[in-house]
Amino acid sequence: MTPLNEAASGLEDVRRRMAEAAQRAGRRADSVHLIAASKTQPIAALQQLVDCGQTRFGESRMQEALVKIAHFAELGLEWHFIGHLQSKKARLVPGQFSWVHSIDSAGTAARIGAEADRLGVSVNLLLQVNIADDPAKHGVPESGLFALAETILAQPHAGIRLCGLMTIGRADAPADVTRKNFARLRELLEQCRRRFGSEFRELSMGMSGDYEMAIEEGATLVRVGSALFGARA
Ligand SMILES: *Cc1c(COP(=O)(O)O)cnc(C)c1O
Repeated sequence: MTPLNEAASGLEDVRRRMAEAAQRAGRRADSVHLIAASKTQPIAALQQLVDCGQTRFGESRMQEALVKIAHFAELGLEWHFIGHLQSKKARLVPGQFSWVHSIDSAGTAARIGAEADRLGVSVNLLLQVNIADDPAKHGVPESGLFALAETILAQPHAGIRLCGLMTIGRADAPADVTRKNFARLRELLEQCRRRFGSEFRELSMGMSGDYEMAIEEGATLVRVGSALFGARA
């Protein structure tokens, strides 16, 4: 297989496995969206997926992402910022990205909100929860989740919509621990929904190694990189 069609055949396989996982969980296939985690991938690899109908892409490095977004500007793709967002880069989000999965501070949300309001655009925000208590990961600890949500919801910005939670599974965790963490994130989403309202409905969880399990546990957004593109260089 040539490198150029590797992404396309990866996409077919991932879409099939996603549909099968949804079916096993008694969920509709269209209740889960695939975010192609395309960081470090060249434009040509993204183009392959675009040609196969993929519209949602996740990037985690701002400068690299802005080049790609500009390249595909005519196509109406949906860009998700999934990596750690430095607060000084937050103002670059509105107008470029329609989703940020990695909010773990009220200050970053406020900066996005202020710029979104200025531009008259809107950005969907997910709170990143460090559910596995992984010291190597960003994210709000479970104990701080409701307070952070409350603070952000109290901000006067029309341009940000807090709509769910995200977590990154711990790479070294056994499968049953990862499954428990996914189930816990879903429980936290339900608690947020009861406290703060029905806007809380998105669960971003699952990567190449565990997206099927994440779908079985309720993921609505899965972020898949290497299973689509092959291992990153
Ligand atoms: C890179 C990345 C992914 C995708 O990881 P793979 O294991 O390659 O599927 C998912 N989420 C985040 C936040 C990432 O940075």
